Amino acid sequence: MSVDLSPRPEDAPWLSEDQLSFREGVVRFAREQLAEEAADRMARDRESEFWREGWDRCGRYGIQGLPAPEEHGGGGADVLTTMVGLEALGYGCPDGGLVFSINAHMWSALVPVWKHGSAEQRRRWLPGLASGELIGIHAITEPEAGSDAFAMTSRARRDGEGWVIDARKTFISNAPVADLLIVFARTSEGTGPIGLTPFLVEGGSAGVSVRPLEKMGLRTSPMGEVALDGVRVGDDAVLGREGKGARVFQTSMDWERALIMSAQVGAMQRVTERSIAYAKERRQFGQAIGKFEAVAFRIADMKMRLDAARALLFRAGSVMDAGRDASAAAAEA
Ligand SMILES: Cc1cc2nc3c(=O)[nH]c(=O)nc-3n(C[C@H](O)[C@H](O)[C@H](O)COP(=O)(O)OP(=O)(O)OC[C@H]3O[C@@H](n4cnc5c(N)ncnc54)[C@H](O)[C@@H]3O)c2cc1C
Repeated sequence: MSVDLSPRPEDAPWLSEDQLSFREGVVRFAREQLAEEAADRMARDRESEFWREGWDRCGRYGIQGLPAPEEHGGGGADVLTTMVGLEALGYGCPDGGLVFSINAHMWSALVPVWKHGSAEQRRRWLPGLASGELIGIHAITEPEAGSDAFAMTSRARRDGEGWVIDARKTFISNAPVADLLIVFARTSEGTGPIGLTPFLVEGGSAGVSVRPLEKMGLRTSPMGEVALDGVRVGDDAVLGREGKGARVFQTSMDWERALIMSAQVGAMQRVTERSIAYAKERRQFGQAIGKFEAVAFRIADMKMRLDAARALLFRAGSVMDAGRDASAAAAEA
């Protein structure tokens, strides 16, 4: 007994026909190539195993590079279309950890390099980040600097033509599988957001070590602690301007806050559909349980929240595409 709550043209006037058919294409791709046997997913979840093959399939389909410019191997999609694609991915792909890892990579590595990288940094890193061949992370959080991210104490000091970085980072998504690390460190004695600089560090560089961490949920999204001990990089590793790392952090947060909800809306649709199907199928006291008010009201609430979440999400995307300040719209979403 299948139910389909995908947005229809008549109740999603903010989406064009092209966006709706793009959405259908991504759902088909996710169902055919990512919705693998539940048993496999459960086993990977138990073992905290990242599904690299699923990641690569998404890369070949063009997911990771969706918003990046075509000249750098991206899809050139606007924000709303990117949201539509990720919503469809969250709906069709039951591996929430894989979808989370893709989001972390896009908002914390792809977007900062695209928006703040020099021409040379973009040329070197963007095609690989967009195709999914390379996995990027940003390492901000430290054991004593979580919500208060700008209290970080990791440092980088000038040494001849380059820099030497000493850093301790924790809770870093995708760290165990990363090819590119964007590491934030203090480069002057400022306090708070002043004097922070992000550095592009190649995974596996001398002095970089990663210790995987276990999580209670999203277990197929790998996470780790990252230590940098006397890691040497050139001046060309500075992302953006020296001491202005807070701007890079802000760009990442602006995109993440608005877009990370996309896949969750897709997952909300999936579980709402399953709940409706089950409420119709399961019978007690001679009728489907969906006929009982306690279940019917709850399902009506789920559907209302799904529609409200989707509307708030797409509004934030439209505001971003119009080049306006989307902070409030993203925060509401
Ligand atoms: C799944 C996941 C992925 C992550 N990925 C990354 C990553 O890729 N890169 C990265 O750098 N970091 C990452 N993090 C770390 C994340 O940014 C931090 O967990 C977050 O900043 C919160 O820090 P904390 O865990 O140290 O909590 P704390 O800062 O210790 O906060 C704990 C609790 O204290 C309370 N609190 C703190 N400050 C305030 C306040 N000002 N007002 C009111 N209450 C407050 C809140 O209830 C809060 O929930 C990830 C975390 C998770 C869970």
